[in-house]
Amino acid sequence: MKAILVRAYGGPEVLAMGEVPEPPAPGPGEVLVAVKAAGVNPVDVYLHTGQYTRKIALPYTPGSDAAGVVEAAGHGVFLKPGERVYVNATGIYAQKVLVPASRAWRLPDALSFEQGAAIGVPYATAHRALFHCGEARRGETVLIHGASGGVGTAAVQLAKAAGLTVVGTAGGPEGVAFLESLGVDRALDHRAPGYLDGVEPDLIVEMLANQNLAEDLRVAKLRGRIVLIGSRGPIAIDPRVTMTKDLTVKGMSLFNVSEPERAAIHADLAKGFASGALKPLIAARFPLADAAKAHAAVMAPGARGKIVLLP
Ligand code: NAP
Repeated sequence: MKAILVRAYGGPEVLAMGEVPEPPAPGPGEVLVAVKAAGVNPVDVYLHTGQYTRKIALPYTPGSDAAGVVEAAGHGVFLKPGERVYVNATGIYAQKVLVPASRAWRLPDALSFEQGAAIGVPYATAHRALFHCGEARRGETVLIHGASGGVGTAAVQLAKAAGLTVVGTAGGPEGVAFLESLGVDRALDHRAPGYLDGVEPDLIVEMLANQNLAEDLRVAKLRGRIVLIGSRGPIAIDPRVTMTKDLTVKGMSLFNVSEPERAAIHADLAKGFASGALKPLIAARFPLADAAKAHAAVMAPGARGKIVLLP
């Protein structure tokens, strides 16, 4: 079958289409899924640079999110052949993947395969950041700093559904217009000087902490919480600000989620998909062979939801 292979660490050019053996028949607790769409996440890019905190041995097939159809299910698996599923696992940029059944969930009828490929990392991350790490409560104001991307759009929908007032940021007037179309209560341009003046959130979920953490500390309310989802380098801050306002700054990684927590997150997401409150947004589609172009695109400004690959 066809799959993307990374044979050396480097930039997007290291993503090349290759021929690999089909996965074996599923063993107990496993499912074999025919991939119809795969999600592109920034972490997939960090990993092939070889500079990330986690390293994958070469050669490997990248990708962590997909949606598709169950081809075969091992003993004890609740899913049946022919069922539509979304998965969050490893080695996803391929025509077929073998995954633990605990990392596969039924894809709601209302969602396309492309939308299913946008759930695993983005929605679970946004859910964990808002509710588990950030302890978001109805009636509070949340600043979603970087609301236009895969995680940000998911966070907007989750926060609105939970009764929070949502302030979102995106780049440029087009980004602001995009956020307004999502129904945020206030949309701000994170390229404009002083754009956070007058904002006083209870909770901040932060996609680019190395640029924004000092400003987040400045604007956060007394006893505010700041959850760091994304950061691409160091930043200087004055820790005293956290003391004067009793602030909580918490980092989070989806890699650290426990199995019971993951199951609870996806059960809650299923309710949001069923009610229509959660609808993954697709920004762009690329053929699987153009994975390198998709990886360049996900790192470029102007995010509008999720980029997907079509095998
Ligand atoms: P994405 O789809 O590429 O979106 C990137 C987001 O960052 C866009 O909304 C972009 O806005 C925004 N951004 C750009 N410049 C910004 C600035 N100065 N201030 C605030 N936001 C800015 O990526 P994603 O999938 O949503 O992921 C977002 C970040 O979270 C990435 O760094 C990713 O690695 C990280 N992440 C972490 C975890 C975890 O477990 N901790 C899980 C998933 C993702 P514009 O394009 O409109 O400028």
